[in-house]
Amino acid sequence: MLDKKEIVKFLKETDKSKNSELFNRAREIKHQLCDKDVYIRGLVEISNYCRKDCYYCGIRKSNKNVNRYLMSEDEIINTAKWAYDNGYKSLVLQSGERIDDTFIQFVEDVLKKIRQFSNNGIHVTISFGEQTEETYQRWYEAGAHRYLLRVETSNRELYKKLHPEDHTFENRINALNLIKETGYQLGTGVMIGLPHQTYEDLADDIIFFRDIDVDMVGMGPYLPHKDAALEDSVYNLPTDKEELLTLSLKMIALTRICLPDINIASTTALQAIKSFGREQGILAGANVFMPNISEGEYRPNYQLYDNKPCIDDSSDECMECAGKRIEMIGEEIRYDVWGDSQHFLKKKKDG
Ligand code: SF4
Repeated sequence: MLDKKEIVKFLKETDKSKNSELFNRAREIKHQLCDKDVYIRGLVEISNYCRKDCYYCGIRKSNKNVNRYLMSEDEIINTAKWAYDNGYKSLVLQSGERIDDTFIQFVEDVLKKIRQFSNNGIHVTISFGEQTEETYQRWYEAGAHRYLLRVETSNRELYKKLHPEDHTFENRINALNLIKETGYQLGTGVMIGLPHQTYEDLADDIIFFRDIDVDMVGMGPYLPHKDAALEDSVYNLPTDKEELLTLSLKMIALTRICLPDINIASTTALQAIKSFGREQGILAGANVFMPNISEGEYRPNYQLYDNKPCIDDSSDECMECAGKRIEMIGEEIRYDVWGDSQHFLKKKKDG
């Protein structure tokens, strides 16, 4: 584990050859972990309804310019079946946050059906926001294996600037701990390049990942949405797209170096900056790739930030494209494994 000062030094480094050395070192560690394998997850954005109002988000509840949708149970199961028939062993189901009984039951039923038709052959990650302990337990028992809840920033003061008063940092941390205690593989992540954010904040984020004992990380650059409500006049970090991409790649590389056995996703937001961004994420030490397999008609309505890529593509196209892109950089997509976090499996084995 690097200390905070060392992490900050790497984050501020402008020498291209030194940055390349950092990416190569992180990639070597990724190869020690899982060779050239890149674990694949089919991403299904099941709904864009949300009860929250995070200032940076394009689908926050106050944004009236969004066409709201909830995929039907049949649509979700058919998408999951398509994925299973095409070799996917791992899915991510994601939506805005809802805590009403109808939604909780709906998710529980969907999870049970996926487990049933696949004979427990698909490992499912869910990302449905902050819930009660009981709900986490119900969904875990219904068949979800992993839970992704981004902390967005580990700086309490910055978190306050990003959210209305009733979305508290304490609740977010409490939720992350509940998820872990329920038995899920715990995933979290941050945005990189937020207004007011500093290099020191980013170093603290990596230390936070270690301290909360994450099994998976998914993070990417902060990209504004036209209907967001974030006050964004003060920037301490680069706003130039190329520099922001490099900073995001450095966060991936440093997280890999500090937490060598976790899963790290190369997120779509990297590709929003540069068409080759997600592949660069893999080359900087990430080992998870999540092509969107949501129904085409819904994709344009799930935009947390502007210019999200792949919204006009079909699931087939995304699958084919992912294979080609990963092959092109000399790595290998693995559809046939669950690709669970080795960090999690080790903890489980050690009791
Ligand atoms: S970030 Fe998540 S919880 Fe916040 S408004 Fe967007 S979808 Fe809802």
